[in-house]
Amino acid sequence: MEAAEKKRILVIEDEIHIADGIRLNLSIKGYQVKVAIDGIDGLEQWRSWEPDLIVLDIMLPMIDGFSILKTIRQEDEKIPVLILSARGDTKDKIKGLRYGVDDYLSKPFDLEEFLLRVERLVKKKDWYKEAGKDKKPVCEMFDGSHYDFGDNHIDFVSFKAFCVAGEIVLTEQEIVLLKLFIANKGKPLSREMLLAAGWGYSRDTSTRTVDNFIVRFRKYFENEPKKPVYFISRRSVGYIFDHD
Ligand code: CA
Repeated sequence: MEAAEKKRILVIEDEIHIADGIRLNLSIKGYQVKVAIDGIDGLEQWRSWEPDLIVLDIMLPMIDGFSILKTIRQEDEKIPVLILSARGDTKDKIKGLRYGVDDYLSKPFDLEEFLLRVERLVKKKDWYKEAGKDKKPVCEMFDGSHYDFGDNHIDFVSFKAFCVAGEIVLTEQEIVLLKLFIANKGKPLSREMLLAAGWGYSRDTSTRTVDNFIVRFRKYFENEPKKPVYFISRRSVGYIFDHD
């Protein structure tokens, strides 16, 4: 690994033997590591050094781990934070999750598990960077458990539709497309967007695939599939899902 490519990990931990153990093991794995032994030092190093991951203890001198996490999240929603805490109780975990922690490990922890979690979190940072590079249109997705329109009822938990055509078991792609349509009710969606949502860009599919799905949706949900009122075509735009 080139020195310039080394990922930076800031360890905020006041127990010297734990901090040293972590530093040693992360260094062996090829990470650049700095240790802060109290809360103030931790926040200072976070600002000045711009680490790729923070390993954070809860019980710390000066400023406790939760307050550090809160401060960090006000300025940076994305830097991965792994809490290492002696306190393994659920309340602390929930508090940590509420403040935006990415992962949580109770002491004493298994070294191998710790290193695997670190590896995963560091990748997460890269993923955010990639995602920021080519900003794709943000797809809203319906996240309810069921939905009704006209004489149709869709159950997203059991993947079933009770509709004009009877009871139908929906495929995963049909579910994704339906959620996308519902979340964007009344707004036109391009074939490309529907294709990306249902199949991703990489697959060898064409926008014709989307048209075939719409034909199916109309058979399932429209009283008169040839005269659709819910899944409507918009020339040169794509499709609109709408209902009263
Ligand atoms: Ca501590």
